[in-house]
Amino acid sequence: MPAPARSVAVPAVSPRLLAVALLTVGLLLVLAYLVAFDQGAISQSGMYMHELMHDGRHLLGVPCH
Ligand SMILES: [Zn+2]
Repeated sequence: MPAPARSVAVPAVSPRLLAVALLTVGLLLVLAYLVAFDQGAISQSGMYMHELMHDGRHLLGVPCH
């Protein structure tokens, strides 16, 4: 005798929460892309981004050279 089918309750996710979550994931992916770009993992000609990150480190007072 088969078990009776049961309905599964799916938790409601508000569109606003979904949008915030997707935006957060998107920003983190962009940040990961920029860091990889700066490290030369994606592009070997990313000197502009390297200089930008370098200047940012100097603005924060991080010694590097
Ligand atoms: Zn420097």
